[in-house]
Amino acid sequence: MSTIDNLPPLRDVINTHDLRARKSLGQNFLLDLNLTAKIARQAGDLTGCDVLEIGPGPGGLTRGLLSEGARRVLAIEKDPRCLPALAEIADAYPGRLQVIEGDALEIDPLQHLTPPIRVAANLPYNVGTELLVRWLTPKDWPPYWQSLTLMFQREVAHRIVAEPGSKAYGRLALLAQWRADAQIVLNLPPEAFTPPPKVSSAVVHLTALPQPRFPADAAVLNRVVAAAFNQRRKMLRAALKGVAPDIEDRLLAAGIQPTERAEQVSLEAFCALARAVAAA
Ligand code: SAM
Repeated sequence: MSTIDNLPPLRDVINTHDLRARKSLGQNFLLDLNLTAKIARQAGDLTGCDVLEIGPGPGGLTRGLLSEGARRVLAIEKDPRCLPALAEIADAYPGRLQVIEGDALEIDPLQHLTPPIRVAANLPYNVGTELLVRWLTPKDWPPYWQSLTLMFQREVAHRIVAEPGSKAYGRLALLAQWRADAQIVLNLPPEAFTPPPKVSSAVVHLTALPQPRFPADAAVLNRVVAAAFNQRRKMLRAALKGVAPDIEDRLLAAGIQPTERAEQVSLEAFCALARAVAAA
C-alpha cells in the first residue's frame, strides 16, 4: 500500500500495465510518491484550483497533485499505454481527474479548465521548453495560469533564472523574468527517476505577475531577443541586422550601444528596444 492513497505502489502499476519506459517519449518516471507529493507542494496551495498536468505517465505526480488537494486535474498524455493506469487513479478520486490522450503541443486545454488554474509537469526537455515559451508569450497578460511548476534538466532550469552577464542568460531568462517570478525550488539527482537520465534535473516554479515588469509587445520582444541571442557573440548591430533596417538608431533610441553584446543587455533595455522596434 502506498503512503498517500489507496492505490498500488508505482512499481506495481508499471509492471501490471507493462509500462516500459520509451526513450522516444522522454520517459523517465518518478516512482517515489513522497517525492511526487513534495513536488506537488511546490506548486502552491492547490485546494480550489484546477491543475493542468502535461505528461502524467503512470501517474506519480498526478497522485501527488490529487492527494495535495487539487480540486481537479486535467492530464494530457501522448502515450496510450498509460491510460489504463490513469483510469485507476480517476476511479480512486471520483470526478477529480480527467485524462486527454494526445500531444500537448496540439491540444488547447482551456475549454476543459476553470480558473484558478495552476500547471504542473515532468516533461521531456524539448516539449517542456516549447510549452514554457508558449505559456510565457500569449499576446495578453495575465495568462490563464497562476503558476507553472515544471521539471527541467538542471542546465535548462539555470537558463530560466539566469542573470545578465552570465553564460546561461538568454531568451528563456528574459521571457520568464519579464512576466513571471521564476525560482528553482528543488534539485533532483538522476537516480530520482526510473530509468535515470544522463543529467541532473531541477523543478522551476514560475508565478505569473499581474502585469509584465516593463511594457513591450510579446511577439516583438520574442523576435528581438531570439535574434540577439542566436548570434550572442556578435555585436547587437550585426546580430539584429535582420530585425529592422535602421537597427542602430533603434538601439540608440532604447539607450543601448550598437556595439554591445546581447549577454550584457538587461531585461528593461530589451523591452525598450522592443518598443523602439515596434514604433519603427
Ligand atoms: N509525469 C510522469 C512522472 O513524473 O513519472 C512522467 C514523466 S516522463 C518524463 C514524460 C511524460 O510525458 C511521459 O509519460 C510521456 O509519454 C509524456 N509525453 C511526452 N511527450 C508528450 C507530449 N508531446 N504531450 C503529452 N505528453 C507527452
